[in-house]
Amino acid sequence: MSERPRLTVLSGPSGVGKSTVVAHMRKAHPEVWLSVSCTTRKPRPGEKNGVQYHFVDDDQFDKLIANGELLEWATFAGNRYGTPRLEVLRRLESGEPVLLEIDLQGARQVRESMPEAQLVFLAPPSWEELVRRLTGRGTESPEVIEERLTTARVELAAESEFDTTLVNTSVEDVAAELLALMRVV
Ligand code: 5GP
Repeated sequence: MSERPRLTVLSGPSGVGKSTVVAHMRKAHPEVWLSVSCTTRKPRPGEKNGVQYHFVDDDQFDKLIANGELLEWATFAGNRYGTPRLEVLRRLESGEPVLLEIDLQGARQVRESMPEAQLVFLAPPSWEELVRRLTGRGTESPEVIEERLTTARVELAAESEFDTTLVNTSVEDVAAELLALMRVV
């Protein structure tokens, strides 16, 4: 296996805790660069433009696609999300490990365009736990939650397409395992 830093993609169902794992990991290792995606979703309370996401409108997202500026993009629960290509390539070329936290459709696109990428599936400890997390966030409408559960069922079945599975039993353990996979520690 190559020791050269490479692209790592963390994916899995919505609500499984991807962003919590990533936040925990970056607190200990701020040098791990996480791509900031563009999205047409409206900011949630506390989210800042350019930090969690670049918040754009539909026209701006159309232009990003048309100009080939996205490494991958997908529609998730009615909003579009995409990874800006240039910054990812620039970081990889300079030898930095790069992490994407994206949905399954995006992970599949990355596997096609960058087969050397390492695809990591974050699985919930159980289906019941995933439902609890998805319904407990309290920021989305019942329709959005139902849509996310439907998507999550499909996404769980995709585990076998990934190089590695990490089960999210403890944020600390999973963050450490992810760092090891990225050869950061
Ligand atoms: P949320 O709206 O909860 O922040 O994110 C919803 C879903 O979109 C999550 O599963 C998240 O991983 C995914 N996501 C975030 N950014 C991107 C991206 O750039 N591309 C793709 N394909 N999915 C993304």
